[in-house]
Amino acid sequence: MDLFRANLTKAFIHLDRLTHNVRLLKQLVGKRPLWPAIKANAYGHGIEAVARHLVGLGYHTLCVAEVYEAIVLLEAGVRARFLLLSATRPEHSEAIVEYECEPVVCTAEMLDALAREAQKRGRQVSVHIAIDTGMGRVGIYPAEVPAFIERARALPSLRVRGLMSHFPCADQADKAPSLEEIAQFRRVIETTRGRNIEDIEVRHMANSAAIFDLPDAYFDAVRPGIAIYGLRPSWEIANPRVMELKPVLEWKTQVTFLKEVPAGTGLSYGHAFHTTQPSLIATVPVGYGDGLSRNLSNNFEALVGGVRCPQVGRITMDQCLIDVTALRGQVELGDEVVIIGRQGKEEVTADELAEKLGTINYEIVTAISQRVPRVVVAD
Ligand SMILES: *Cc1c(COP(=O)(O)O)cnc(C)c1O
Repeated sequence: MDLFRANLTKAFIHLDRLTHNVRLLKQLVGKRPLWPAIKANAYGHGIEAVARHLVGLGYHTLCVAEVYEAIVLLEAGVRARFLLLSATRPEHSEAIVEYECEPVVCTAEMLDALAREAQKRGRQVSVHIAIDTGMGRVGIYPAEVPAFIERARALPSLRVRGLMSHFPCADQADKAPSLEEIAQFRRVIETTRGRNIEDIEVRHMANSAAIFDLPDAYFDAVRPGIAIYGLRPSWEIANPRVMELKPVLEWKTQVTFLKEVPAGTGLSYGHAFHTTQPSLIATVPVGYGDGLSRNLSNNFEALVGGVRCPQVGRITMDQCLIDVTALRGQVELGDEVVIIGRQGKEEVTADELAEKLGTINYEIVTAISQRVPRVVVAD
């Protein structure tokens, strides 16, 4: 018996919806290649199943943050090329060259370390120069690009395959800062053209938000993350086609205990909730150890029997309580409880939980912990 799979709390991953979302994005960008971002366990969706599905759909270049994420997939037999989006350090060079990953680079130290390692193995390593057009994170400034490229070109075991940048504000209603960043990126590209550097194959900048709202940012490839999982980058996306996204993940558990309690009963740690009437309280085996933030205590609704039921008392590490008084006589041990997803006519979205926590849907799904098995659903 697969004990891990036997966990009562599971994330169900609808790969058919992943296919739908990817096709929608593909319609928007046309012929340009899509390089899906599957970092952080595919935004909590389960990196291996998502990677295999994308490769099966014909997407052979995938974006991860760290080299170890690529190694795990390659060792598992996933045949893809991996772009590393986070800054790397010289101690990563060996793994990068060995596993033929393509890092984003923005330091001379890293250029040298990669070139040395590649030369040692009689190989060539491909890199993407990161340009900071406004994000203020990894990347060299536009003015530094020509010198940086010269330096890279002096290293024969190193190939500058791409120029990339990243948007800080593409998901905002005001597109002016993003349009200025696109203009800057274009100017950088022009300076490299002036230097007769035709071998730079791909220029890429667009995340999910830009795919919907900034067609000028498409360039030669796009890097969608959140949208492939069917979640909107923000509520400020203008393109109505964002409505066509279908959430890939559902998070479900079940009732493990039920009990009637009198009015005035304090529930869970700290008695942060007291019943105001005789109540039927269900225990469910999901808590902050599963990635359900303790800050949602007394502040979210789960679906039971197609009805929204309030969560009551503090969320503990492994369990929490749902007030199912409204379902008296209709709820039994083992009944399904939905944390994120649909049940009957009701739906709880990652956006709804994000709003309650003052965060974004990205964090809600990414926070679902390793303890929760990801179960692939073939709809
Ligand atoms: C995560 C990431 C993306 C994808 O962003 P989404 O908003 O999820 O589409 C693209 N590019 C870089 C550099 C990233 O770090």
